Amino acid sequence: MKPIGKIRRSQVLTGNGPGAIIDFRGENGAPVSVVAAGLEAWDQLAIKKGLLNDQRIHHEPLQARLQVNGFRLPPVGDEKVGREKRPRLLPAYRFPDWHVCPKCNLLQRSRFWSSEIGKPELWCPSCSSGRGKRVRKVHAIPVRFIVTCPAGHLQDFPWMSWPKHAESCSRKKPLKLIGEGAGLKGLKVHCTECKAERDLDGALSPGALGKISCDGRSPWLKMPPETCSHQPVAIQRGASNAYFPVIESALDVPPFGGSFRDMLEDFWPDIIALDDRSQLPAFVRKRIHPLWPEPDTRPEDLTARILTLLTILDNKTGDLRPNEHLMLYSGGPDGEEFPEFQISPQQIPRDLQGVLDRLVSVERLREVRALRAFTRLSPVEAADNSAFVAPLSERRLNWLPAIEVRGEGIFINFDESAVSSWENEPDVADRAAKAHQAAERAWQDHNGSDRGRVANAVEILWRHAPGM
Ligand SMILES: [Zn+2]
Ligand SMILES: [Zn+2]
Ligand SMILES: [Zn+2]
Repeated sequence: MKPIGKIRRSQVLTGNGPGAIIDFRGENGAPVSVVAAGLEAWDQLAIKKGLLNDQRIHHEPLQARLQVNGFRLPPVGDEKVGREKRPRLLPAYRFPDWHVCPKCNLLQRSRFWSSEIGKPELWCPSCSSGRGKRVRKVHAIPVRFIVTCPAGHLQDFPWMSWPKHAESCSRKKPLKLIGEGAGLKGLKVHCTECKAERDLDGALSPGALGKISCDGRSPWLKMPPETCSHQPVAIQRGASNAYFPVIESALDVPPFGGSFRDMLEDFWPDIIALDDRSQLPAFVRKRIHPLWPEPDTRPEDLTARILTLLTILDNKTGDLRPNEHLMLYSGGPDGEEFPEFQISPQQIPRDLQGVLDRLVSVERLREVRALRAFTRLSPVEAADNSAFVAPLSERRLNWLPAIEVRGEGIFINFDESAVSSWENEPDVADRAAKAHQAAERAWQDHNGSDRGRVANAVEILWRHAPGM
């Protein structure tokens, strides 16, 4: 194995993770296209495997949510154990297998081209001139089209069966891919034996591949093909819909031991013991609010914050954002040191009073972004656990790849009543309705008549509107 190129560590999370197709330039600019290998392959070259690896990180709530015991940073640098030192590499496999010669248009699988043992560059033996070290190579180019399915499987375009061969044709002689004009109509697959020829017009449309079914292959994993009933579709190798990472991220906010939870300590056993959450508002009004150390807090706000806390505790693998919001909103824990979470609440400027109800300067914050899976053809919402996603590894591992990002910023909480009266202004409602319709149209164009998803997407856009 030979290193073929470098990507930045964060790029593994932004579209170059396991299963992604990545383009590199090899020696003398030779184009090399690979699919990034699954997570098991990260340990092929590692001395310390799995979560014993030095480049592991932790985030307890995100681990609970994703049901793993830790995360691994994409490998960089050298790994040292005693005197042994090995470069950390991310493995990748050649994909697609079919290549074309830019000079003679020959179109064939990788094994038919010339190459050097252990090197990924391929060249055309008939078009390259000279011998030995002085050979002037004409490099074969990975084909632009690949075939995938909604389950994320990946296979080569059916080049050999694309032209309508004569019955007598052996279908064993090379093909040619001839470019004679603009667009896919000008690109023809030609059989050098029976001279059958067919252009690629419409090849990327749904159903264009006819009755073939998906091969069920996952070439980024060392796994036998699965049975797959999806209809395969051809796409461009570098198209944006070839890979959508499914990323879950979480902030490092203090656990529930923060000040708010502490202030509730005396009431907590009774809160937990309530038969029904609908009794909470009355309980807060009668028992908690009269003794609450912050007399300006309204009982209904107090109830809402307690409910948020209860919701997180109810559902340990649920949404982590309510707690993150709560921590940023409530000003964080008092007294305790949280090295990765430092914030300081600010005075709201006079002009913005009534618009904002909380302004917090975030001085230090850590975010962990984990890659959970990926999809092809259409993206899915990270929180949508029912959506089908393609796996990063052959079997479930106790870790996932992740990166950590440290930063600072400003937390702004709008006054909810100001936002809802803004939402009800006729101009705003009108503009939102137009944006809603446009989003629905775009989604339908992309996904056909998948109504469930349309409703989901619109709701998300809608919610973002007040903060824009
Ligand atoms: Zn050639
Ligand atoms: Zn033929
Ligand atoms: Zn499939």
